[in-house]
Amino acid sequence: MKEIFLLKLGEIVLKGQNRRTFENRLKSNVRRRLKPYGEFHIYLVQSTVYVEPETDTCDLDGAWEACGRIFGIASRCRCRPAEKDMDAIFRAVQDYLGDELAVQKSFKVETKRSDKSFRMNSIEISREIGGRLAEAYPEVEVDVHNPAYVVNVEIRDFSAYVHGPAEPGAGGLPTGVGGRGAVLLSGGIDSPAAAYMIAKRGVEIECIHFFSYPYTSELAKEKVLTLAKILAGFCGRMTVDIVGFTEIQEAIRDNCPEEYFTIIMRRMMMRIAERIAREHGCECLVTGENLGQVASQTMQAMAVTGAVVDIPIFHPLIGMDKEEIVRIARRIGTMETSVLPYEDCCTVFTPKHPKTKPRLRDVERVESALDVEALIARAIEHTEQIRVCGADET
Ligand code: ATP
Ligand code: MG
Repeated sequence: MKEIFLLKLGEIVLKGQNRRTFENRLKSNVRRRLKPYGEFHIYLVQSTVYVEPETDTCDLDGAWEACGRIFGIASRCRCRPAEKDMDAIFRAVQDYLGDELAVQKSFKVETKRSDKSFRMNSIEISREIGGRLAEAYPEVEVDVHNPAYVVNVEIRDFSAYVHGPAEPGAGGLPTGVGGRGAVLLSGGIDSPAAAYMIAKRGVEIECIHFFSYPYTSELAKEKVLTLAKILAGFCGRMTVDIVGFTEIQEAIRDNCPEEYFTIIMRRMMMRIAERIAREHGCECLVTGENLGQVASQTMQAMAVTGAVVDIPIFHPLIGMDKEEIVRIARRIGTMETSVLPYEDCCTVFTPKHPKTKPRLRDVERVESALDVEALIARAIEHTEQIRVCGADET
């Protein structure tokens, strides 16, 4: 076997009684996500998921990239297995890491020995392998304090493994262990980042998008589906509910004072989202709201918006600066799509002077001009459900 992956668990290791459930979920997530890349033997021991290709035709680079998007993994290494014998380990280092090592300024060897029955301890192993490497690569200096490159040796139960520097994993908790949530996904920068943040905590997500044709175009809908596809690359396939929102927005425009347009529109969104969420077995709503960003995101406005539902609403971005949100959007790859210039239904009929500190009883009074129940029922009836898979799923 030439190469395998070791995926090191993150916070799961802190879980007491639930640990087994978390581990099983992670294992099955890894199995499902790596299916498109060939046949792998995947098992979990000692807080590590082992991924071993079973045939020569496995797409290792594709699988490696996919592993970087699986929540619950803190760090990951591509390794060469070797017999638990110092000569074999040294040969594996030379053969597998030699080219990379040869071009470095300096190096050191670091050893982890979880098999305590191995005859040498980790310091002795590092010293011996390091000494042999120093002889074989005289132009690369040994520097134990600030090396340019670290050769890693792990002595585990079944085998020894050698690898270069570990790469970060996606972090978080395995998808599915945190329940299900419904994300209100607009085409903006914030809500995809919010979806990612909640998904990272092990929450399986479904998305809901409000669509005001012809005020917003088909392209706006395509944009949201593209965003959902990128998100599915991290958290697995999902359903996107596209809710026709035109009639509701027109009813608000025709029956309510302008300064209340946005807040009432948002209350309608929440009511519909709650019902769709429950249909999907979701136990929370998630939005990209961010305190103080716009008039509808003051504490008072958010309280009035949230007052219409009886389900927790999470706002993972609530305390972040725009810059931090943009950084997340860039890292997860949604930014480019989010900045495409298609209108969102929030920008249709926007009031010039929205209420920033609305009072619940005023809003309820103004809203009583609408037949809320009938509007909601028709919007839900006209909802289109679309299944979205990640790029590597079928
Ligand atoms: P975003 O960048 O996510 O669009 P935003 O800063 O533009 O957020 P708003 O337009 O006020 O803020 O929307 C606040 C939140 O309401 C969004 O983050 C999203 O969760 C939800 N939302 C807004 N518009 C829609 C929509 N058309 N469909 C679904 N959810 C929406
Ligand atoms: Mg928006």
